[in-house]
Amino acid sequence: YRAKSEGKGRYVLFDQEMYEQTLRLTQLESELRHALEHQEFELYYQPIVLLENYQLSGFEALIRWKNPKRGFISPIEFIPLAEDTGLIVAIGDWVLKEACQQLKSWQNQFGEATNLKMSINLSSHQIQKADLIDKLDLVLAETGVNGNAIRLEITESTLMDQGELTIAKLSQLRARNIQLSIDDFGQGYSSLSYLHRFPINILKIDRAFVEQMTEGNEHIEIVRTITMLAHTLNMSVVAEGVETQHQVDILKSLGCEFGQGYLFSHPLSAIAAEQTIAASLLPIPVKAMS
Ligand code: C2E
Ligand code: MG
Ligand code: MG
Ligand code: MG
Repeated sequence: YRAKSEGKGRYVLFDQEMYEQTLRLTQLESELRHALEHQEFELYYQPIVLLENYQLSGFEALIRWKNPKRGFISPIEFIPLAEDTGLIVAIGDWVLKEACQQLKSWQNQFGEATNLKMSINLSSHQIQKADLIDKLDLVLAETGVNGNAIRLEITESTLMDQGELTIAKLSQLRARNIQLSIDDFGQGYSSLSYLHRFPINILKIDRAFVEQMTEGNEHIEIVRTITMLAHTLNMSVVAEGVETQHQVDILKSLGCEFGQGYLFSHPLSAIAAEQTIAASLLPIPVKAMS
């Protein structure tokens, strides 16, 4: 009898959890719509640096949601939901415009010579939409940003999922001098034999590989191989999730050009990012370079 009632109790508990989960998702969805209308989103900017001299090369724009009731909600939680509901397209439009406006304002303030690149994440839904290119043209025209200052990040699965259509779209983006990055490389089912068919400029090595590098030689060899593959295909390499100097030393020895991670900086508010740009224009202290 005890076992049975325990079992039943557990079942009810599980049901309750599922119910609460569904409720939470439904609520989140309507709050997501609300957030878009009430400007609860904000972009943070994480520096990407040249490993050779730790010079600032640009930023990745990362969305943040500050919900008045729930507080901070991670994009890991709401981006997948936004994708499922199609809201990602409207959110993505906002991100694109906001990131370009911010870049333009920094170019005005610090001069285009700083040559900062703005990396923007693009979801597969955005690529599928027929009007992506028109929207981009409009944003570039409205903000006055040149395509060559923009990098669009797409994941491997987006790339592999859609074949020829994606290749055509990506070529149109390249025709505007927009650079293209593969995000989280190594995380998905990468079809290595396919990679050369896509007009990609930058390969971003997934954080998991960078993290594992300190665990032993075979992990280092994996990163070495990815880096060599990228270079063979004329791509530059960005290591994601760099957290230690030891990782930097290994990455440099492997010929990886760029790094992004907490060692250099967490994602920053626009104001903090602006201070970082200003500081990067000062001569580099000798100590920081050793
Ligand atoms: P992602 O594009 O791969 O972005 C990098 C993520 O790694 C960011 O998480 C960043 O804060 C985190 N990160 C950076 N350095 C380190 C590090 O040293 N250690 C660790 N543990 N993490 C680090 P975040 O900001 O939470 O974003 C998560 C994901 O959400 C992004 O992964 C991206 O897939 C998605 N995302 C964020 N903003 C947008 C957006 O505007 N549009 C779309 N479609 N997706 C977005
Ligand atoms: Mg990204
Ligand atoms: Mg990434
Ligand atoms: Mg990611």
